[in-house]
Amino acid sequence: LGKNHYRFYNTEMREALIKRSRLEEALRKALIHNELILQFQPQLDLRSGRIRGFEALIRWVHPEMGTISPNDFIPVAEESGVIVPIGEWVIRTACERNKSIQNIGYPQSIISVNISAIQLQRPDFAEMVIGILNETQLAPHDLELEITESILMESFQAAIGNLETLRDYGVLIALDDFGTGYSSLSYLKRLPIGALKIDKSFVQDITNESVEDSLVESIVSLVHRMGIQVIAEGVESQEQLDCLRAWGCEYAQGYLISKPLYELEIRQMAAEEDAARRSAM
Ligand code: C2E
Ligand code: MG
Ligand code: MG
Ligand code: MG
Repeated sequence: LGKNHYRFYNTEMREALIKRSRLEEALRKALIHNELILQFQPQLDLRSGRIRGFEALIRWVHPEMGTISPNDFIPVAEESGVIVPIGEWVIRTACERNKSIQNIGYPQSIISVNISAIQLQRPDFAEMVIGILNETQLAPHDLELEITESILMESFQAAIGNLETLRDYGVLIALDDFGTGYSSLSYLKRLPIGALKIDKSFVQDITNESVEDSLVESIVSLVHRMGIQVIAEGVESQEQLDCLRAWGCEYAQGYLISKPLYELEIRQMAAEEDAARRSAM
């Protein structure tokens, strides 16, 4: 039995490995075969009521498997290193698309791009981003990089070096998913960030019953005292939006405002807003 069990375990492991290497192989091809696409989710400026910009979110449209969520393939891309070319494609495409979003009706639009720790560890990361900004002619302050606390675990110095170079160049940096990782407030002081995204799990805790003792209110005021702006993620109800605005949170993102959109839908949204403005005149 012991022997059988061992063999079974081995087979299972081998199958998992094969599956994984097939997925890796398919991911490498995905980039070449144009199966990767970006959607863009609007971020609302709660003070002006205008759109601040959009977060670029990757999707993999596989010819047989259909649309695959980044939660299912980004971890494989990170472990295999394929995240490096994919990540570069995301930055370049996001910058190009933001230029066109600016031209179709959102001239101030900031594009936010999710960056993996693996990408940030590379010594040439900052240089690569600056190269893309020059190539696409996007202003540095119209690009925001979203990083997570996982960068603090590995190659901290290299990552910080890249972030400081980019911050000095004018690129915006935001800390994503705040509250889910090994957050320590002391980290906030060590990272060159201008904004912090409060994770949706905290935002979704804001309900009628919990408004009084919401953690979010305390996070907002504490973070403001450090000179950092706040973006709330996963806003799904009007009540959450009202609370966030009352607490001085600068920006909000979530299904209440809009789901992630294709560029064509952004074009339609811009046209509708324009028509509404005209008829109000
Ligand atoms: P994230 O950066 O925290 O992105 C926010 C996620 O929340 C997105 O999921 C978005 O569609 C979803 N979301 C937005 N509004 C709401 C809401 O009101 N309620 C709920 N429940 N969810 C909402 P998505 O697009 O599936 O992306 C998942 C994660 O995959 C992202 O989390 C990010 O960590 C990662 N990711 C996405 N695109 C990229 C990329 O280009 N590069 C890297 N490295 N990671 C990416
Ligand atoms: Mg601008
Ligand atoms: Mg993000
Ligand atoms: Mg997030």
